[in-house]
Amino acid sequence: MDESSRLLSKALRHLREGFTNLPESQTENVGEQGIENVLLEVAERLRDNYPYFHPQYAGQMLKPPHEIARLAYSLALWVNPNNHALDGGRATSAMEKEAVAAIAQLFGWERHLGHLCAGGTQANLEALWVARQLRPKQKVVASQQAHFTHERLSGVIGVEFEKVAADAGGRLDLAALEKTLAKGGVGLVVATVGTTAAGAVDPLPELLELRQRYGFRLHADAAYGGYFGLAANLDPVTRRTFDRLGEVDSIAIDPHKHGLQPYGCGCVLFRDPEVGRFYQHDSPYTYFSSPDLHLGEISLECSRPGASAAALWATQRLLPMTPGGEFAKGLARSREAALAWHGRLRADRRFMTAFPPALDIVIWAPRATSVSEVSRLSRALFEEAARRNLHLALAQIPARFFDLTGMKTDAESLTCLRSVFMKPEHLGWLDTLWNLLGQAAAAAGVDASKLT
Ligand SMILES: *Cc1c(COP(=O)(O)O)cnc(C)c1O
Repeated sequence: MDESSRLLSKALRHLREGFTNLPESQTENVGEQGIENVLLEVAERLRDNYPYFHPQYAGQMLKPPHEIARLAYSLALWVNPNNHALDGGRATSAMEKEAVAAIAQLFGWERHLGHLCAGGTQANLEALWVARQLRPKQKVVASQQAHFTHERLSGVIGVEFEKVAADAGGRLDLAALEKTLAKGGVGLVVATVGTTAAGAVDPLPELLELRQRYGFRLHADAAYGGYFGLAANLDPVTRRTFDRLGEVDSIAIDPHKHGLQPYGCGCVLFRDPEVGRFYQHDSPYTYFSSPDLHLGEISLECSRPGASAAALWATQRLLPMTPGGEFAKGLARSREAALAWHGRLRADRRFMTAFPPALDIVIWAPRATSVSEVSRLSRALFEEAARRNLHLALAQIPARFFDLTGMKTDAESLTCLRSVFMKPEHLGWLDTLWNLLGQAAAAAGVDASKLT
């Protein structure tokens, strides 16, 4: 922590030296004491959180930004550039273009149109909106396991939305999709490359084949999973999808999920730069210093934090997104942790698992004689684990994702546990997590001896 402050002060001094040709200006002094008091109050308030930064937090999709991202972001705040226009954020606009081009490279795109944005929701909104500009009045179709915002976003842009079933592996069901396609009027299909609930990866090769037959646009919602193509340990089926990701029409990917960034950093990419024409507008007061592309000319949002671009650029510089590199190895370790956790659960009669993790999310539950009892035990286990500082998450998923043989199916949907092993450190912590789970399970009354 102290080392961080030292580095930040050093970099700030360097930054300020770039502006010493200006006359001294006094910023209003609020008073050190006042600031200190309020800041400590903020620290006090912030204690009311789960410890997202700690490996014993193995619940939701949360992890701390990398040190370099935190520092570069803080440093940029001194200038507080706005990446809407080159006039508001010259250096960080250039950094954004470079950082986004590096992400496009992950999918083999030399040419592309893309920019950073608030997050995955905004990225998806722009992709859906471009599809609507190209295919007005046509439907958006996504799987029942796709992110919940697709339906809402379709409403925002005024297009019909249709949900198709997911198969037992949590992936978009191809037969169900084909029925919908046969009815006609589908403008865009959303392939989720890593579902938020279960980390399932929709079958892209088959979807690409369907695109050829039915001519829809294909958008990959890779907000959570997009970086995993770099992991060397994907299973062959998942690998096939990542290898062909570059063939879709648009991609949403969230640097603030697996890209080690603070929140407020999503990214949307289009394969065909020509779609930039839909964004065209005349802003009467923001673009005057340069004929070069201002990012606001290809973005739906107006003001955007240049600090986000600085943080992402710095992270990519320190940890290049190369196969076999440190960043790629971190993703592989996350997946390895998920696989190992899944393996432990499977080998233990107290627990049941759904499909094996495609990326780094495991969904699992205590075994019981009925679906409703599984849900009750999952909630109890969640509470008991949290009491022991093992933080898990709960998810509501179709009961059929689990093998229900011998169980009373008294509900269609089931509450299970969900663990995202997002932090590479998780791998080294599995024994500790497993011990805590054992204690929590005993306290929650998870007992395999009553089961046949
Ligand atoms: C997280 C997520 C989103 C939403 O992204 P935000 O950054 O939270 O707005 C959309 N789709 C998928 C698959 C996600 O995992």
